[in-house]
Amino acid sequence: MTAPFDWPGRTRLVRAGLSTRVDGGRAVNPPVVRASTILFDSVAHLKDVRRRRNDERVLSYGARGNPTAYALEDVITELEGGYRTRLLPTGLAAITQTLLACLRPGDHVLITDAVYEPVRHFARQFFERFAIDYSFYAADGRNVEALLRPQTRLIYAESPGSLAYEIVDLPALARLAHSRGLLLVADNTWGAGYLYRPLALGADIVVSAPTKYLSGHSDVVMGAVTTTQAAWEQINRSLDAHGMTVGPDDAWLILRGSRTLAARLPVHAAGALRVARWLQTQSAVARVFLPALPGDVNHALWQRDFSGTNGLLSFALEDSTESAAIRLIDALRLFGIGASWGGFESLAMLSDMRQARTVSDWSRHPFLIRLHVGLEDPGDLIADLERALTRTVGVSTQ
Ligand SMILES: *Cc1c(COP(=O)(O)O)cnc(C)c1O
Repeated sequence: MTAPFDWPGRTRLVRAGLSTRVDGGRAVNPPVVRASTILFDSVAHLKDVRRRRNDERVLSYGARGNPTAYALEDVITELEGGYRTRLLPTGLAAITQTLLACLRPGDHVLITDAVYEPVRHFARQFFERFAIDYSFYAADGRNVEALLRPQTRLIYAESPGSLAYEIVDLPALARLAHSRGLLLVADNTWGAGYLYRPLALGADIVVSAPTKYLSGHSDVVMGAVTTTQAAWEQINRSLDAHGMTVGPDDAWLILRGSRTLAARLPVHAAGALRVARWLQTQSAVARVFLPALPGDVNHALWQRDFSGTNGLLSFALEDSTESAAIRLIDALRLFGIGASWGGFESLAMLSDMRQARTVSDWSRHPFLIRLHVGLEDPGDLIADLERALTRTVGVSTQ
């Protein structure tokens, strides 16, 4: 650790993972160290490093990490308040590798119904082949206890959930998990280690996609796993066995993005809230999903456990057909049509909730429009939405 945990996120973002001294001076930023082979002074030196590398973070071979990636690991560890962090090529790899590291044939795992959708695909593809059983629990966590089995080994949470932002009472889930000796894994991509800190609320392992807000510039993909000290060894050894690492150039891009996270998030948040409040006044809009809005079903838990919101919100049209949502998205000019979020630019995506959820009933709002509000002027984004709504749904501002 380079800084104590009780520093606020803003200070941790700036203080963590800085460069080390070279010849009595130092640049602010760690260098990009590109390396596969690492040279040693002697065979004895090489043997010593190999002996220590399972437990210590020593430079031994490029496939086990590089100094630039180590600096980013330190930043994420500081943000999440964890023991240590490992980096992976994508956010999805961080999730799937964590599940593979923690589960074995015969185990049962409970996954939130609000999970990032590709995890469902992974469960179908691999859990079935490896004889790992899984069930989805309601996004608010109400039926978790009823779904527990003697074979249950792990509870997987994502809060707020993808697309509709359902929030679970994570401390309560942690108490339940730990009373049964289960691991609690939480996806903290939404919170970016800054708006939400699942480890402090009782999770054992946090997975995330620095692809999103930590990068902030839509130009790199990466995953991270941060754990408590107790959960570290299992994850670390499994990732080494699988040869998981990231290149120094990608780590450098995320490091660079991370330094301005504290400046960017409030701008995203203010824009998202303004757009959301405007959408709420539109007769063509049936419902707006954003826990930071007073009146949202998740507002109380958001206020209790989160320190802010980001640029994400979703909404449903009164016309609940897929074609109405598609017409609206296609009519937008300032919002790009594309996956992912967390960059500087605004995006709009069609979400089919009948595929994204299997426990809860979404027949009333089968299609959501998910917006990522970027750093543009929210007035311009609202004008774009207004023009598109008027043109496609035929309803103008009240
Ligand atoms: C995007 C996302 C991921 C996966 O990140 P990639 O880097 O795109 O693989 C995981 N979890 C959540 C909640 C996400 O939004």
